[in-house]
Amino acid sequence: MKFRTTLLFGAPGSGKGTQGKILGTIPNFYHFSCGDIFRNLTPDTELGKVFLEYSSRGQLVPDEPTIRLWQHNIQMAEQDGSFNPKTDTLVLDGIPRNLRQAQMLKSMVKVRFVFYLSCPDMSKLVGRLQRRALRENRLDDANIKVIRQRLETYERETRPVLDYYGSDVVRTMDSTQTPINVLRDILRILADATD
Ligand code: ADP
Repeated sequence: MKFRTTLLFGAPGSGKGTQGKILGTIPNFYHFSCGDIFRNLTPDTELGKVFLEYSSRGQLVPDEPTIRLWQHNIQMAEQDGSFNPKTDTLVLDGIPRNLRQAQMLKSMVKVRFVFYLSCPDMSKLVGRLQRRALRENRLDDANIKVIRQRLETYERETRPVLDYYGSDVVRTMDSTQTPINVLRDILRILADATD
C-alpha cells in the first residue's frame, strides 16, 4: 500500500516547516520534516557527520542514506502508532528534494497535493533565514555564503521536482502572505478534497 501523501514544497525560508508543524497537529495528519530528522542525528554517528559536512556547504545529503533514513523513521512511526497509513495523510517537508529522490519514493507514496510555497523575492527568503539563524541557532542559516549556496541548490536540483509532479497535483500559494493566510489556503484545499 502506498502512503497517502501531501508535499510541502518551496525554497529554504519559504515556510514549509511552519506549515508542516501546524498540519502535524491535526488528527490524521503526520508531519515528517527531513531537515529536523537530520538535525536530530548526533555528530558521533556516521550519517550525523555526513549531514554536517553537506549542510554546512549548503548542499544536499546523498540520496541513498537520505531515503533510508526516511524509510526507517516512517517505519518507526508506524510501529509506535504515531503514523497509521490506513487513516493518516503523510505530510512530507523537505523530501523529495531532487528528481532522483522523487523516483526513489515513487513506489511508496501516492502524492495527492504538492503545496508550492512560492516566493519570487529572494531577498525576503534571505531575511527570513537570517532571522531564523538567531532564533533557532541554525549554523546553515548564519552564513550568507551558505544561504546563497542553498538557494542555488534549490533552484538547480529541487525546483525541477515541481514539473515531475505536474499541474494535476501542484497547488501554488503565495508564501509572502502571513503564515495564517498560507495555512488558510492549504486547509481550504485539504478540507475540500474528497478523495
Ligand atoms: P531548508 O529547507 O530551510 O534549507 P531543511 O531543514 O529542510 O532546511 O534542510 C537543511 C539541510 O538538510 C539541507 O540544506 C540539506 O543539507 C539537508 N537535507 C534536508 N532534507 C534533505 C533531503 N531530502 N535530501 C538531501 N539533503 C537534505
